[in-house]
Amino acid sequence: MTTVFSKIIEGSIPCNKVFENERILAFHDIEPAAPVHVLIIPKKVIASMNDVQTEDLPLIGEIHAVAQQLAAELGIAETGYRLINNCGPDSGQAVAHLHYHLLGGARLGALTGNSASHA
Ligand code: AMP
Repeated sequence: MTTVFSKIIEGSIPCNKVFENERILAFHDIEPAAPVHVLIIPKKVIASMNDVQTEDLPLIGEIHAVAQQLAAELGIAETGYRLINNCGPDSGQAVAHLHYHLLGGARLGALTGNSASHA
């Protein structure tokens, strides 16, 4: 499935890149939800967390290492940050290509579920 992130990876849509290697690309989110809002994506097309295979686990680990590195480079390692993956409709996942949001640079709101009662 072709997504906007596939087009960013192949270069037909530009991005504000902050990291790239053979397996991973990271770039600033086009609609930042915090002062620092970077998306970290695998170049391999994986639709969502549900589609991660055992063979992908080193890649997932490397994404976390890249998040750690970028947090330091972007000045939020000490102040703190959040790494978020949305998976599926209830999460609001809008792009069907695995991605992690690295958010920081300000006090982030509380993590919430939805407005429905969980009692
Ligand atoms: P999600 O809701 O988890 O699927 O997040 C998708 C994210 O991709 C959103 O935060 C969008 O703002 C972001 N996004 C969509 N298109 C682009 C783009 N061309 N460049 C950078 N970020 C994008």
